Amino acid sequence: MFEGLSGRLGDVLEKLRGKGSISQDDVNAAMREVRIALLEADVALPVVKDFVNTVKTRAVGQEVIKSVTPGQMVVKIVHDALVEMLAGQIGAQAPDEAEDDGKGEGERKKRDRVAEVLNINATPPVPILMVGLQGSGKTTTSAKIGLRLKTAMRKKVLMASLDVQRPAAQHQLAVLGEQTGVDTLPIIMGQKPTQIAKRALDEGRKGGYDVVILDTAGRLAIDEELMEEVAEVRKITNPAETLLVTDAMIGQDAVTVATEFNEKVGISGIVLTRVDGDARGGAALSMRAITGRPIKLMGVGEKMDALEEFQAERIAGRILG
Ligand code: GDP
Repeated sequence: MFEGLSGRLGDVLEKLRGKGSISQDDVNAAMREVRIALLEADVALPVVKDFVNTVKTRAVGQEVIKSVTPGQMVVKIVHDALVEMLAGQIGAQAPDEAEDDGKGEGERKKRDRVAEVLNINATPPVPILMVGLQGSGKTTTSAKIGLRLKTAMRKKVLMASLDVQRPAAQHQLAVLGEQTGVDTLPIIMGQKPTQIAKRALDEGRKGGYDVVILDTAGRLAIDEELMEEVAEVRKITNPAETLLVTDAMIGQDAVTVATEFNEKVGISGIVLTRVDGDARGGAALSMRAITGRPIKLMGVGEKMDALEEFQAERIAGRILG
């Protein structure tokens, strides 16, 4: 088990009890523990360094409030900075509003906001491109988004799998389409991803669809061919959203994956999946910091309704342990 930051800092800052304010030395000692906690939570080293510097400047000279211990205070400073960094510019997401009121109301709000965080205000049919490594949860997330747009916003959605590497992948999306009642593009074997993408948009126009979700192929690791293929699809479809889907368990690989997809394809946002698992969430912070792109949504289970608006508070809590 990881030792939570509160526990670590409790020992380090015990001697601060009764002091008026936090000194540079105290902060340095505390930041050593913060650094270890973040690295253990799989945050990438350069991101850890930046973060620690930000927090250091904030903590020095802070008056220690009598009602809390210095450890608790530093944890709060670190926590608040983490939330800010994770939420970034889209800090517009209001965690207070999403608080559960015990009647499931908060839960409903979080799920209803899923459709709102996506930018789909272009001329229909609006393409949404899903990219990421194989097994990251792209196909599942495509269907979850399709279902959410259909139910929460009454959008007419068409989904298409561009995965010609694994015939089973196209079938998997068709099955999820049937399960959710979201239309899928009929499968024609032998077409290239770009041909399927064009066919999907044509069908989107002819069929009066509002949104067309394009689920691309993923490899087990990044490769040039995959990147070129996805970049080409992006060029010809000009999507309103290009969402990088990554597993929260991805750990230190998050940096390479996010950098590569952002530089070679270009992404507009990130979806973090398997947040229901026991990942510490450091990958989220690394990807947010390195790409500057917002984490828009998070997958919290295998079921089709297990998709929520990203909550920085929840991930910050995980990272701190
Ligand atoms: P793809 O290869 O990127 O299209 O990945 P899939 O959509 O096929 O997902 C791979 C596996 O992860 C499937 O068994 C999904 O049910 C599962 N999965 C996807 N998202 C989540 C999630 O948020 N939580 C959990 N527990 N499982 C998920």
